[in-house]
Amino acid sequence: VTRPVALTDAGTSSLCPVCLRRVSARRTIEDDNVYLDKECPEHGAFRALLWRGAESYFGWAEGSRHGGAPNEPGLSGRCAEACGLCGEREGDTCIAVLHLTDRCNLRCPVCFADSCPAASDGEPSLADVERMLSACAEKAVRPSVQLSGGEVTLRDDLPSILGLAKDCGLPHVQVNTNGLKLAGDPEYAGCLARAGADVVYLQFDGVTEDVFRTLRGRDLLQVKVKALKHCREAGLGVILVPTVLAGVNDHQLGDLVRFAKDWIPTVRGVQFQMLSFFGRYPAGGECDERRVTLPDVVRALETQTGGEVAATAVTPRRKYDAHCSFSSVFLLDAGGNLCALGSADDVPAGSGQPMPFDPFAAEAVAFARKYWRAGSCRDCGGRAPTGLAAQIGGRLLTLSGMHFQDAWTIDLERVRGCCVHVVTPACDFVPLCLYYLTSVSGRRPCALS
Ligand SMILES: [Zn+2]
Repeated sequence: VTRPVALTDAGTSSLCPVCLRRVSARRTIEDDNVYLDKECPEHGAFRALLWRGAESYFGWAEGSRHGGAPNEPGLSGRCAEACGLCGEREGDTCIAVLHLTDRCNLRCPVCFADSCPAASDGEPSLADVERMLSACAEKAVRPSVQLSGGEVTLRDDLPSILGLAKDCGLPHVQVNTNGLKLAGDPEYAGCLARAGADVVYLQFDGVTEDVFRTLRGRDLLQVKVKALKHCREAGLGVILVPTVLAGVNDHQLGDLVRFAKDWIPTVRGVQFQMLSFFGRYPAGGECDERRVTLPDVVRALETQTGGEVAATAVTPRRKYDAHCSFSSVFLLDAGGNLCALGSADDVPAGSGQPMPFDPFAAEAVAFARKYWRAGSCRDCGGRAPTGLAAQIGGRLLTLSGMHFQDAWTIDLERVRGCCVHVVTPACDFVPLCLYYLTSVSGRRPCALS
């Protein structure tokens, strides 16, 4: 294996997890692990685990741009706050997250937004939201939009917001939810579908109640199943989104895949999100033993599905820096087994030339449109899908993963090309990891909230 020395020897920069000042950092290999090492002049040295299995770290990066020719600068806009990080961003937006409330009807022990029932901060008004959606629609590549929070279903005007998104011509709109309202109101899923929701992004951590008690503070499995039933009745697609924490649910990844298979075609995919240590998380938990890295999930999927989801079938999302995510598409065959359809990339990758749009963002948008909406009646004027779509549309399952960076692991070189952005009420597009990142004392890098 030829190791691109630049990836390890070239320095990068990070933040001090205590004071959030910008510090130089470097990626180092030890005991077959890749670490980020950094030192704050005031708070000392920090080391955080990035990746278990150094060899796969380099193979994973093939085809991504990190270290290559930069795209046109300034595509992402900039933050209102001059934290010094924003002017350098290069990636365009693939997913635009609209944080529309801090309120929540749960108070989960784990929450990157640190939301809770008592939160009463001002929420963007419908007029604010319309401007935020318009800003998304003005992008060269119209991003997928996630309506998020907090628990966004607590906003009574959510159907109006979905309507505004559709009026703006945004191609793919997801509702991020814990599912409580979908479970409690049998009419709600249909209401969201009619208003323009393309898919529900349902927090779904495991297949036994102990997992929900640990991560969410109460039993929720039956609530989630009820929410799924209501989505199925309404013809509304669902992506299951587990937060993966070592020792809590990292042994249930195969069970989650089997559960998802049983719910095809309502369930369109599973998006595994490895817990990052920002917002609210177990005190003192930010140690490397608790970290599940991206290759850990890939290996666990292979082992826990008996090879049905082979590690070789799980492909890096080709992008600015592939180490953030993976995505793969599978077809459920007549025997009930998942067959890999290969890489999800269906838009040519960038050649390093400046382009009118970010090809990596375009790929990610195309992925969501093509696979998470597959079989949607809305795509064919309410008629049943025909042709190839009919043959495979109801039998597809995507398996994807996303590892957000926290104050220990954040690599500002990686953030430069990030395409997952939070849209602020001022219509700035901020990388999600920077928006939600918190210091050890809970402070955020920009005065964003
Ligand atoms: Zn410091």
